Amino acid sequence: MKKWLYFFGAGKAEGTGEMKELLGGKGAGLMEMTRIGLPVPAGFTITTEGCDYYYKHGKKYPPGLPQQVAANLKRLERATRKKLGDAKDPLLVSVRSGSARSMPGMMETILNLGLNNQSVEGLAKRTKNERFAYDAYRRFVQMYSTVVIGLPKEKLEEKLRGIKKSYGVKDDTEVPAEGWKKLVDEYKAYYRETTGKDFPEDPEEQLWGAIGAVFGSWMAEKAVTYRRVERISGLLGTAVNVVQMVFGNTGDSSGTGVCFTRDPSSGEKVFYGDFLINAQGEDVVAGIRTPMHLEEMSRRMPKLYAQLERVRRILERHYRDMQDMEFTVEEGKLYMLQTRVGKRTPAASFRMAVDMAKEGLITKDEAVMRIKPEDIERLFYPVIDPNLVMADIGKRKLTHGINAVPGAAVGKAVFTAAEAEEWATKGEKVILVRRETSPEDVGGMAVAQGILTATGGKTSHAAVVARGWGKCCVVGAEQLQIDYVAKKMSVDGRVIREGDWITLDGSEGVVYEGELPLVMPKLPESYQTLMKWADERRRLGVRTNADTPQDARKAREMGAEGIGLCRTEHMFFKDFEQPEKSIDRQLAIQGMILAESREARVRALDRLLPFQRRDFIGIFKAMDECPVTIRLIDPPLHEFVPHDHAKQQELAKRLGVSAEAIARRVEQLKEANPMLGHRGARLSITYPEVLEMQVRAIIEAAIECQGQGIKVLPEIMHPLTLDRKELRILEQATRRVADEVIRKSGRKLSYLVGTMIELPRAALLADQIAEVAEFFSFGTNDLTQTVMGLSRDDAGRFLPDYVDEKKAGIFPADPFQTLDTAGVGMLMEWAMDRGRSTRPKLKVGICGEHGGDAESVKFCHKLRMNYVSASPFRVPIARLAAAQAVIQERLEVSKERKRSKQRR
Ligand code: PEP
Ligand code: MG
Repeated sequence: MKKWLYFFGAGKAEGTGEMKELLGGKGAGLMEMTRIGLPVPAGFTITTEGCDYYYKHGKKYPPGLPQQVAANLKRLERATRKKLGDAKDPLLVSVRSGSARSMPGMMETILNLGLNNQSVEGLAKRTKNERFAYDAYRRFVQMYSTVVIGLPKEKLEEKLRGIKKSYGVKDDTEVPAEGWKKLVDEYKAYYRETTGKDFPEDPEEQLWGAIGAVFGSWMAEKAVTYRRVERISGLLGTAVNVVQMVFGNTGDSSGTGVCFTRDPSSGEKVFYGDFLINAQGEDVVAGIRTPMHLEEMSRRMPKLYAQLERVRRILERHYRDMQDMEFTVEEGKLYMLQTRVGKRTPAASFRMAVDMAKEGLITKDEAVMRIKPEDIERLFYPVIDPNLVMADIGKRKLTHGINAVPGAAVGKAVFTAAEAEEWATKGEKVILVRRETSPEDVGGMAVAQGILTATGGKTSHAAVVARGWGKCCVVGAEQLQIDYVAKKMSVDGRVIREGDWITLDGSEGVVYEGELPLVMPKLPESYQTLMKWADERRRLGVRTNADTPQDARKAREMGAEGIGLCRTEHMFFKDFEQPEKSIDRQLAIQGMILAESREARVRALDRLLPFQRRDFIGIFKAMDECPVTIRLIDPPLHEFVPHDHAKQQELAKRLGVSAEAIARRVEQLKEANPMLGHRGARLSITYPEVLEMQVRAIIEAAIECQGQGIKVLPEIMHPLTLDRKELRILEQATRRVADEVIRKSGRKLSYLVGTMIELPRAALLADQIAEVAEFFSFGTNDLTQTVMGLSRDDAGRFLPDYVDEKKAGIFPADPFQTLDTAGVGMLMEWAMDRGRSTRPKLKVGICGEHGGDAESVKFCHKLRMNYVSASPFRVPIARLAAAQAVIQERLEVSKERKRSKQRR
C-alpha cells in the first residue's frame, strides 16, 4: 500500500530533510532535526501527495490514509506514553500545514487538539494548573470553530472581550479558570446555535476535521494569491504535520520564541530573535506582549540560551544557510518546533551569501546561486515602507493590475501627459494615469513618478518605456474606469480625481489611495563582490536596451557591456538633454509623416537629423569601446500624430497647414491591425528617405566620436524583416549611405548591418536571411505575439486567467515576461541553427523584454547566444542569471558523470 504518512520521534525519523517536496518544508525540517539529535517532539507528517490526491478526487482522502493515521496515532501514543483524550494525562497535538515552499501565515494551524470535557481535567491534573488547562481548551475551541468550521472570528473575539469585561480585566492572563470555563461553554453554545451540532468531543473526529481544514487551506483565496504573486507553481499541495503539543505557557520556566541564526534584515552574523516567557507561539505572532530579545535571555537564562546557541551552530552548519527557528521551552526543557531557511531582506541576501562564502561555509558558486532576481530588483527601487501595518495598507487598496515595473511610486493622479508635464514643472509629484500610452505621451511619462494604465500587458508601450527608465509601472488595471473629460477615475464607486494622491506598488501590481511612505533600500557593500563573482563565471554577454545617453550611462553603471537595442523612435518626442527642444523634434517627425511629397518629407527629415545625430553622439560616448545596436524606425506612423481634434488643430497651426489636411492624413494612416501593418522594415521599404536620414545620423555621429578618440562599434539593425530579399534591399540602401558618409570623411569605420528576428517567417528562413545579416537579435516581444497569436497590447485582458492556477492555469507564466521556451523557444533554436549554418560566426542576441528575465536568460545561455539585452535596471539580473546558468550547467554535467559512473 502506498505510504501517505511519515513518522518521527525518539531520535528516529522515517523521512529526511531532503524530502521537502513530499513532506513540505516543516515536515522535512522536523524529520531532519530529529535525525541529527536535536530535541523535537514526536509526530507524523501526511504527505503532499495526499493533498494532491484529495484535490484530484473530489476532496476524498486517499485509500489507506485512515488506517495509516490510526496506526501512527497509536505509535505516537506509545512514543509519548500518553493517550489522546485520556482523563489523566492526555496526549494533545498540533495540526499544522507546510508546503515545499514557505508561505508564511497563508495556511492553517490548529493547536491543543485532543481536548474535550474529559481530557481537559486530565491536563489540569497533570499540570496542577486548572487555569492553564481551561485556557488551552478555550483556545482550541476557538481555533477549531473558526478554522475548521469557518465560524466568524469576530463573534468569538466579541465573547472573549465580554468575559474579560465581566471580570473587569484587560489582559487574557488575568482571566481565572472559571472565566475560561464559562467562555468554553459560550463558544460551544454558539457552535450549536450556528451549526446545529454539538462541538465534537471525540479527538479522532477533531483530528480529521483539522486535517481537512489544513488541506482546504491550500486552495484558500489568500494562499492561491500568494502563490501567484510569489510565482510559486508546480507544487503538489500542503503536507499536514501532527505533532505532540509542548506548552510554553505552563509558568515562568516555560516560554516560546522565534530566532534567526543571523540578522534577517542586515545579514550580520549575530543571533537574532525574541523569547516570550509563559506564552504560546500565537502570542508572539499576535504581538500582545513585548518579548525579550535573545540578548536579554542570555543574561536572564544563561543555561537555556547556551542550549539554543548550540542548536543555532548545529543547524547553520548542517543546512549551510541562515535558519529561521521556532522553539518552545516547557518547564525548562527546550524543544525545536521548526527550522527553515529564513526569509531575508534583499540586502541581507547579499551580505549573508558573501560572508558565508568567505567563512568557507559555502562555495562562491553557491553564493551566486543564493541570490534571487527579485533580490537584485528590490535593491534598486524604492519600496513601500515595510514597517507599515499590513491591515492599514490593505484598507487603502483601490485596485490591482499587472506588475510591469517593480518598486513603488507616490504622486497626485493626472490623466494626460500634458498635465503631467505642467504639474511637474510646478514641482508637483504626479502619477500618470491613462487607458494606454503611446509615443506621444513620453514627455508626461518621463516626468511622472509612476505610470498606471487600465489596459495592456508586460510588453505594452507603457511597460516597455517605463522599464527602460526603471520607473514604477502598473498596467492592465482593468477595473479602472477612467473619465478623461471629468478628469477622474473610479473603481467600485471609489473615486480618485485629478490631484488626489495615489500610491503604486509596481512589484505587486497594486494601486492604493493616498500617499504611503516609501523607503529607498541601501546598496550593500557585498553587492559588488557578489556581482564580480557572477561576472567571472558567465559566458553570455549582457547588453542593455537604452534609447538616450542618460539611459546608456546608467546601464553602464549597472554593468552593461554595450547596447543591444536603441529604439530610435523613442527619441522623436522628447529631448532628454535639452527638454526645451522637444517640440522641434515633434514637429519635425510630425511634419515628415504629414508631408504630401517626397521633397517635403526630406525637408522634415533634414530637421530631425541633427537631433538624432546629437543623441547618437551621446550614446556612443557613454558606450565607448562597446558595441551599440541601433534599430531603425519601427512603429506605425499613426502613433506619432494626434488623434483628437483639439490637438490636430494645434498641430495645424504650428505646421502652417489646415486641420482638415491633418485629419485626412491621420485617417489615411489608420489601420485595422497596426501591429501587423505598415511598420518595421516596411516603413523603410516605402519611405527609403527615413532610412537614409537615420543611417546618416548614425554614421556621422560615429565618425565625429571617432575623431574625439572614442571607440565606436555601430551595428545598424532592421526591424520586423520578413525575408532575404527585403533585407537585401535595406542592407544595400544602408551601406550606400553609410559608405558614402565614411568615404567623404576620409576615415575608416567598421559597422555591421543586421536584423531583428521577430516574425515566424524570418525565423523559418533564417539560413537565407543570414546570407545578408551580419547579426540577429531576437525581438521576442513581437515574436511571442506573432508565434502565439497573442496581441501584446490586448492580451492583458485575459492572460491572467491563463496564468492563474485557480482559473485555467494554461501557462506557467506570462509569456511576454518569461519566454515560452516550448513554442517561441523552439523557433529561436531553429533560427539560430539555421542562421549559423550559413554564417557560422553569426552574432546572436535577444532584445525583447525577456532579455531581463532570469529564466529566459538561462534559456538564451543554453542556446549559446552571444548576449542578452535588458533594460538598465535589469542588467544586473541578466548578469546574475547568466552566471547561474553556467553553474547549473556544471552541476548537471557532474551529476550526469556520477550517474554514468554508477551505471558502469
Ligand atoms: C521586440 O519586439 O521584442 C522588440 C524588442 O521590439 P519592440 O518591443 O520595440 O517592438
Ligand atoms: Mg518588435
